[in-house]
Amino acid sequence: MIDEVQGALADRLARAITLGGPIPLSQFMRAANAEYYATRGGVGTDFVTAPEVSQMFGELIGAWATDLWDRAGRPEVAFVELGPGRGTLAADALRAMRFAPPVHFIETSPRLRAEQAERVPDAVWHEDLSTLPDDRPLIVVANEFFDALPIEQVVRAADGWKRRLVACQDTLFLPVSGPRLPDEIVPAHLRDAPVGSIVESSPASVAVMRELTARLARQGGAALIIDYGYDGPALGDTLQAVRGHAIANPFDAPGSVDLSAHVDFAVLGAAAVRAGTAVHGPVAQGEFIGQLGIATRAAALAKAAPARTDEIAGQHRRLTHQDEMGTLFRALALTGDGWPVPAGFA
Ligand code: SAH
Repeated sequence: MIDEVQGALADRLARAITLGGPIPLSQFMRAANAEYYATRGGVGTDFVTAPEVSQMFGELIGAWATDLWDRAGRPEVAFVELGPGRGTLAADALRAMRFAPPVHFIETSPRLRAEQAERVPDAVWHEDLSTLPDDRPLIVVANEFFDALPIEQVVRAADGWKRRLVACQDTLFLPVSGPRLPDEIVPAHLRDAPVGSIVESSPASVAVMRELTARLARQGGAALIIDYGYDGPALGDTLQAVRGHAIANPFDAPGSVDLSAHVDFAVLGAAAVRAGTAVHGPVAQGEFIGQLGIATRAAALAKAAPARTDEIAGQHRRLTHQDEMGTLFRALALTGDGWPVPAGFA
């Protein structure tokens, strides 16, 4: 049944390309990921995220939110999560929080909404940010959300920079060069890169960021964004597909692999500053949750369950060590006017 649906997406995209010519990479990625999150296992089946590694991750974020809310003067706020996956982070965070705000989830996949409802039954779901409450400050968390949003790529050809499009031959999808773009589309220091070089951007991420930060500027509150990425613009093709915990071809079987791309923290930060919110970090995830006290939390959990000592130590290492998720992943925080600097960003 699922294979039929995914076959249907491949057919639909193939037909669109046959009729209208190659499509933008962002259109391919948006359609593929919408299908993927709507139908397949996703988190757990194909990749593991920090909240799925250990309950400590969500609990520390709950403590982070409590501290922030407390130092902000304990206002009436809403807790918002973008792309909550299986709902694990929110459930762990809410359990650890010393207050009980209303919970709002931004989630487009009906299947994941149902999973989230098992863990956080009282949440209110939204398709996008436009329907979030606008009468109170928001405390927003987004873990591995922005990396799932569609990207565009431009590729350096012998005669200049070209937009990367997705074509289809028979039933095989493949990237091709589109029409030439003005050189100015690429930042000056990257313009003379060798043939084959790629520069990425994510207009969809910037759009979400603008909406989010405009709200923080207007309503107050804070956002915590955790993802893997770089400080761009930079050269590099970071589009990646995973299936069953292994790397796959991003253009094979759209809808049955998870597509993601590295997040450009510099661009996200700049969008936030323009909207009038303060930006903190990015700091390495290992450092961030180290400052929040993961060592103490791990020791307490191990003391309560001595048989799990090694397992907990392994989770601690996985979340914080530089060879694991500790430095690849980074945390960025945004705060509205009058909100204190969040813990972990001092
Ligand atoms: N935060 C979770 C899940 C990360 S996977 C975790 O850390 O485990 C990405 C999540 O974002 C999924 O819940 C997916 O359905 C959701 N998502 C992806 N694109 C989206 C979009 N455009 N709008 C809303 N949600 C989206």
